Amino acid sequence: MRKIRTVLLALLLVYAVWLVVVVLRHPYPKETADRDPLELQGVYHLHTKYSDGLASAESVARSARRAGLDFIILTDHGNPNYDSFDFQGWKDGVLALSGSELSVHRGHLVALGFRRPAAAFSRYAETAVLEVGALGGFTIIAHPYSKTRWSWGEPVGYQGIELINGDSVLRKDVLPSLPYLPALLFRPRLTMIKMLDDPAAEMRKWDALSRDAEVYGYFSADAHVLHRLLFSFVRLHVLLDAPLARDFEAAASSVWGALRSGRFYNAVTAAAPAAGFRFWGEQDGRVVPMGGSADPALPLTLRVRAPWSFGQTTTLIRNGETLLVSKDTALRLDVRAPGVYRVEVTLPERTGLRRRVPWVVSNPIFLRKD
Ligand SMILES: [Zn+2]
Ligand SMILES: [Zn+2]
Repeated sequence: MRKIRTVLLALLLVYAVWLVVVVLRHPYPKETADRDPLELQGVYHLHTKYSDGLASAESVARSARRAGLDFIILTDHGNPNYDSFDFQGWKDGVLALSGSELSVHRGHLVALGFRRPAAAFSRYAETAVLEVGALGGFTIIAHPYSKTRWSWGEPVGYQGIELINGDSVLRKDVLPSLPYLPALLFRPRLTMIKMLDDPAAEMRKWDALSRDAEVYGYFSADAHVLHRLLFSFVRLHVLLDAPLARDFEAAASSVWGALRSGRFYNAVTAAAPAAGFRFWGEQDGRVVPMGGSADPALPLTLRVRAPWSFGQTTTLIRNGETLLVSKDTALRLDVRAPGVYRVEVTLPERTGLRRRVPWVVSNPIFLRKD
């Protein structure tokens, strides 16, 4: 009996030492870039007590402020969720925006940026897309593979697709990440990124959809609980033309405008702070922003800024295929071939992020006929 106890204690000690070493080997890198007033950080896809979230909208907004977020996007269930819609406004310096996660016949569809509807949105995905659009809004396919297979048929005007979904990460089989679970108590970011798998199916589907339409990729928290933890898991970095207005309507319309036109990039913030990334095109003296289209009859210069010293690798991708891989902090490439160009940045293993899991994902620049 005593022997068994001694062996168990020894094993526990070895495990504890291993865990301490793992945690110490994965320090969280410090933010290197100064905050740019034209770059906002926010978290998209949040549930509150207005539907099946465990926290009130007020307390979610307070946590967002403590996490240093500029904006949050509530997406409570409903067709739409009117309580959540009416909650919108400036909350403690955080811009609180609301859309709704609609239950439609093909799955969950997030509707954003719409004016208050007089009647419920349709349960038919294709009809709901038109109704949301008629009220000035746009739609994003949520967790596209939660039913394990693609259930959305031919794309019909969806503006976006979720690439990473925090709720799916938390719901997945925890066994492979079991050794990292105790780290939730003192290094929760590490546990989260150890649970994150390569979103290969979502990325492939996104590239396929982008061939015929302008579809943007979103990292989504889909937080029902643990909002504070998920606020430092994945973030959207929105790029603006002018600093955010204090007037709520004006501020909301600039953030919705950037999101609906792909002027943002995604980051797994839990691996490293990702402020300062830029991807843009230059053509004929004109700047082509991320999410925008360039003239296929003229040459285009693609520019990337990846201003970190984290040992990152930047990959420029055309139509889903690797075009250029670089360790440099600035890239410049002249391209002529029509196609959909986007950028992924990965981090070395020492940050804790699994190989092949992208850390930063840009939105595309389209070089093709409209
Ligand atoms: Zn959902
Ligand atoms: Zn959700």
